[in-house]
Amino acid sequence: MRLLSMKWVRFVCGVIGLFAALSPLVAESSGMAVLKAAAPQVRYWKPETSGDSLWTVAAQHVAVSNPPKRKDPKIVPVLYHNIVFGRTGNIYNRDLYNFESDLGYLKRKYAFLGFQDLVDIHNGTKTIATDATVVTFDDGDLSIYAIVYPLLKAFDIPATFFLVPTFIGQVGYMDWDQVREMDRYRNDRGEKLFFFGSHSLTHRLLGELPADEVLYEMQESKRIIERELGGPVIAIALPFGSGSGDKQVLEAAKASGYLAVRTSKPAAVLASSLDLMNINAFNVENYSSDVFVQHMLRITGR
Ligand SMILES: [Zn+2]
Repeated sequence: MRLLSMKWVRFVCGVIGLFAALSPLVAESSGMAVLKAAAPQVRYWKPETSGDSLWTVAAQHVAVSNPPKRKDPKIVPVLYHNIVFGRTGNIYNRDLYNFESDLGYLKRKYAFLGFQDLVDIHNGTKTIATDATVVTFDDGDLSIYAIVYPLLKAFDIPATFFLVPTFIGQVGYMDWDQVREMDRYRNDRGEKLFFFGSHSLTHRLLGELPADEVLYEMQESKRIIERELGGPVIAIALPFGSGSGDKQVLEAAKASGYLAVRTSKPAAVLASSLDLMNINAFNVENYSSDVFVQHMLRITGR
């Protein structure tokens, strides 16, 4: 009896397995095709593709970009690391769909700036009439080239990427060819959208290093990125935010020729009181995009 029942179990499993194996074929050739068509479509990004449905969502955001005018415009840079599909491994990952929603929100509510714009605002040669953000990415993860780059092109959103030269070309990071391609990119109006800054040479805690090593981290990373891209590197983002406000670190930044230092403090500043040696940035973690919006409203006090 016991043997017989095991045979029966095997038989049932076999039938189920056969059905599972054949079901795609069955679905193709019968009324089940209706069920199959109702399944959600999977979207994915191909860097050199355009004109298909993939971009239409982004195009709508481009069309509605009209941030509200403000008497007291505020600047709140945002900071990302890796963009991933689906479930995130840690707070440095952000899901693609939430990231796309973030971009749509930013496009509706904020103007976009680069670090040269911040320098110009500080020097009084540029003014803004709306709240503004600076989209930044730290570490040079490969998802920047694979996912972020095509998406930002579709949204026509500028961004600044902070690189660690010793990470470039490592597994999971961009290589110099990819960085150069992004650096060369110009939009339909001939504008440069993507800028690169330093995130130190080896990604150590600059606030805890001796002065000569801090200086080397800053100078050597700047020299390498400028050599590879052929243009000036004007901003540095402090790894882990370490050394923000530290006299030794800021002196080293100035001595290395940086015009701006980005920290990771989640705060907005009035455009009229910008401190170039302490540019805040809101590190966006792996919550849903509506939580991101709540954080932005809280940070800006809007
Ligand atoms: Zn970092």
